[in-house]
Amino acid sequence: MLDEISKKSQNAVPDAVLNSTKCIVVIPSIRGGALNVSAGGMATCRESADRWGPLAFVRFNGRGIRAPRIDLLVFVLSDTGVRALRSGELQIGGQKRTAAPLVSTSPVTTQVELTAELLTYEGTAGVLSSSEASGVIRGDADTSQPIHNVVPRKTTEKYLSSVVSFFNMITPTGIVIHHTAVIPGENTVPRSERDIDKYHRTRGFEILCFGRVYHVAYHYLIMPNGAVKMGRPERCEGAHAAGYNSYLGISIVGDFSSEDNPTGKKGPTRPSAKQIASLIQLCWRLKDRYNIPLQHIVRHSDISSTKCPGDRFPYRSTLDQLQRRPAGVKPGRG
Ligand SMILES: [Zn+2]
Repeated sequence: MLDEISKKSQNAVPDAVLNSTKCIVVIPSIRGGALNVSAGGMATCRESADRWGPLAFVRFNGRGIRAPRIDLLVFVLSDTGVRALRSGELQIGGQKRTAAPLVSTSPVTTQVELTAELLTYEGTAGVLSSSEASGVIRGDADTSQPIHNVVPRKTTEKYLSSVVSFFNMITPTGIVIHHTAVIPGENTVPRSERDIDKYHRTRGFEILCFGRVYHVAYHYLIMPNGAVKMGRPERCEGAHAAGYNSYLGISIVGDFSSEDNPTGKKGPTRPSAKQIASLIQLCWRLKDRYNIPLQHIVRHSDISSTKCPGDRFPYRSTLDQLQRRPAGVKPGRG
């Protein structure tokens, strides 16, 4: 269910909500329509940024479900909420209800939403919306056995990896431009995306996303001949610029720093015309797809103390070209 939800782009939960979530309760396939409903599900809390567990059985008793069948997702954001869930009685809905935001309905997540104790979404036919459900989530007394006695370890591991994947989703809000520079110890720029993957594998940049592990920290690589290679999927969090991981990372193969690569011993000293052309086309597509403002297309060095993408990267003229829509790119809506 989590995997299905994350595949649909209209279901994008704001990054700020995903990053602030401390526990998630999932109650699948609740039959609505009746006045009172009771359904079982799972709860798990975050142990660290990328670790969730253990799992616990819970039961939801409540009302306010109109559709014939829904999946209920409760994102617990506050410590009070975590304590309530842990002590076995978490109230949802009622007077404290805060409408649960989606990127499509509220592009900017407000402080009110982030200081809510919890946010409740419901999925109907795989599409998320803010839920009107109210009631209480309790530890499930019918299953007093530890979960690993009842559910095979493989199943709980699969579930937890879906949770990790779900919280690694992003809705891109900007673009960071990098150069690859050289791979330390090799003294030359990478020849293929496989070289980068191998190098990033050793750096621990991997992410679990859509049920697959990706090593390359960037979303795209642009080769010297202008070919654009996929890194990790666009909706997976990047690992290319600290604090800007909801920005898409595009890396241009070469070392464009006149200090580090003055004579071209370490590969191309400036991006080729084909690389720049591909970069501009790619930025336009991404800008349109995610409504990214021009001011959110930055160099790595604009947001971090690094020389990347080097003083020979023609940022000004790239921005100028981005302002004029290149031929062959259709205007997006909005
Ligand atoms: Zn960089």
